[in-house]
Amino acid sequence: KTGWTGINERTFIAVKPDGVQRRLVGEIIRRFERKGFKLVGMKFLQASEEQLRQHYWELRERPFYKGLVKYMSSGPIVVMAWQGLDVVKTARKMLGETNPADSLPGTIRGDYGVEVSRNVIHGSDSVENAQREISLWFKEHELICWEESNELWIY
Ligand code: ADP
Ligand code: MG
Repeated sequence: KTGWTGINERTFIAVKPDGVQRRLVGEIIRRFERKGFKLVGMKFLQASEEQLRQHYWELRERPFYKGLVKYMSSGPIVVMAWQGLDVVKTARKMLGETNPADSLPGTIRGDYGVEVSRNVIHGSDSVENAQREISLWFKEHELICWEESNELWIY
């Protein structure tokens, strides 16, 4: 388990059901692309409560856990794996704080969220959790390690 550090670090990002409902998928992908990170995996799906209970296992004692699992399974989400230098920490900065009310303008939650329970987007909080979450949501063959092209159709 030495792989995903430095420039090959990966993080797990999910556009939550409210983000999909509000048509923010393109905007969110755009921000990560323009920042310079590389998309290495992406799926559109409706998650089961069981999968979300695993995803949010660390929060199982929290009072909002049940509601969180229900909300996250209530509609489709977009799950993504992004790669790049320090992507875990930088993505968390791009997201803003957990509560959109504490998030600065310019962050995703600061620009598009109002409520802590409907905060648009998920991002892994550590490299270890990123690895755990990516392997929970993706099979190995769904992650594509592609290289930059230097062919003539790129100007
Ligand atoms: P983050 O997503 O910023 O890592 P946490 O891991 O602490 O935040 O919580 C996971 C998710 O649970 C949050 O993104 C949010 O959707 C929800 N949540 C956190 N705190 C609350 C709360 N006090 N009330 C309702 N939902 C909450
Ligand atoms: Mg978290």
